[in-house]
Amino acid sequence: MAGTEGHNAAQSLMGTYRRLPVAFARGEGVWLWDEQGKRYLDALSGIAVCGLGHAHPRVTEALCAQAAQLVHTSNLYRITAQEALGRRLCALSGQDKVFFCNSGAEANEAAIKLARLHGHAQGVDAPAIVVMENAFHGRTLATLTATGNRKVQAGFEPLVAGFVRAPFDDLEALRAIAENSRDVVAVLVEPVQGEAGIVIPEAGYLRGVRELCERHGWLLMLDEIQSGMGRSGRWLAHQHAGVEADVVTLAKGLGNGVPIGACLARGAAAELMQPGHHGSTFGGNPLACSAALAVLDALEADALIENAAARGRQLHDGLHARLAALEGVREIRSLGLLVGVVLERDCAVLVERALERGLLINVTGGSVVRLLPPLIVTEAEVQTIVETVGELIAGFLGEEAA
Ligand code: PLP
Repeated sequence: MAGTEGHNAAQSLMGTYRRLPVAFARGEGVWLWDEQGKRYLDALSGIAVCGLGHAHPRVTEALCAQAAQLVHTSNLYRITAQEALGRRLCALSGQDKVFFCNSGAEANEAAIKLARLHGHAQGVDAPAIVVMENAFHGRTLATLTATGNRKVQAGFEPLVAGFVRAPFDDLEALRAIAENSRDVVAVLVEPVQGEAGIVIPEAGYLRGVRELCERHGWLLMLDEIQSGMGRSGRWLAHQHAGVEADVVTLAKGLGNGVPIGACLARGAAAELMQPGHHGSTFGGNPLACSAALAVLDALEADALIENAAARGRQLHDGLHARLAALEGVREIRSLGLLVGVVLERDCAVLVERALERGLLINVTGGSVVRLLPPLIVTEAEVQTIVETVGELIAGFLGEEAA
C-alpha cells in the first residue's frame, strides 16, 4: 500500500486512472509480486498484453541483445527487424503489408485513414465508416468517436465526422445502412467485443459482414487488438469464422508489454498508403520489433495458441460447473482465453476482493468479470483461478441474496 510519500508522488499524475492501491515490483510467468513481497496470480495479463506472462526469457533475451546493439534509428532508414516482423505477421494473418505504430489506438487511426483513402479513391467526398454499439477502439479523437460508449466520448466534443453507428451482431441493421447511405466505405468491428464484456457474435455474423463488404465495395476492418495474437485459440479471432479481412489491427499481445501496434492490409488496401500519407517516429523500431519477433517465436515453439484453446476450455468448463446454476449468474462467455462471467448486477467490488486474495481480475461493463490470463497458464493455475473466482462470485451473490 502506498505510504505518504507514494501518495504525494501519485498526485503528480493526471487523474486518468482510478488506480488500485498496489504497486508491483517483479513478475515471473503468471505471477507478480508487490513491493511488500505479496504474490498475485495475474489473470488479466496487463489487459491482454502479457500473453507470455512476465519476464519471459525469450523476450528478455531479445530485448537485452537488441538494446545492447541498437534501439532506434527512425523510419527514414530500413529496419531489418521490422521487415522480418512484417513478413511473419502477413503470413499468419493472410494480409499483404503492414504499418507499424506504438499502440492499439494508433493502429486503428491508421485503419481509419486507410478507409478514407479508399473512399476518396472511389470518388466518395465524405467517406463514412460503420462502427458498432459498445465497441472500443481507443482514446484518440477518431478512435473515441469510433468507440460506442458515450462515457468515453463525453467532454471531447466535437467528435470526428464520418462514422455511422450500427448495433453489433445485427446483419439486418448493416443491410439497412447499405441501402440508405452512399458514403459508407468500410466497416470497423471487433471479432469479439472485449471492453464491452467479451461479447461474441453469432456464428455467421462475420461471414455476413464480409459478404456485405464485398457487395458494396467496403473494406472489412477487424480490430484484433484485444482478441488477436493467439488469445482466442487461433492466431486471430476472425480465423474461427473463416473470413478474410481487408484490414487487421493489432497491438496489446504483440510486444508482450513493449509498446507496438500494427495495421495490416490486403490487396488494393495495402497499396493505399504512399510516402507523406502517414508515419510514426517510433513505430516499428528495432527494440519493439525484436520483442515482437520473440513473442512470435515463443507462441510457435511452445504451442501456446493450442494451450490458449485448451486452458480456455478448462477455464470455461470449470467456471460453468461452479457458477452456471447460481441465481445472479446470467452467462459465461468465452473464446480461448477471453473469458467473461456475466452477472445480473454491478460487481466492481470483486476486483479489490480478488486483489486481497492475491488474484488480478477485471470487471468491465459494470457486471462482467473479465479473465484474460497469460497464454502460458498451466492446468493447475487455471484450477486456482476457477476456485478463487468461483468462491468470490458465489460469496458475492450469496450476500445479495441474504
Ligand atoms: N481496440 C481494442 C479492441 C481494445 O481492446 C483496445 C484497448 O483496450 C484498443 C483498441 C486501444 O488500444 P490502446 O490502449 O493500446 O490504444
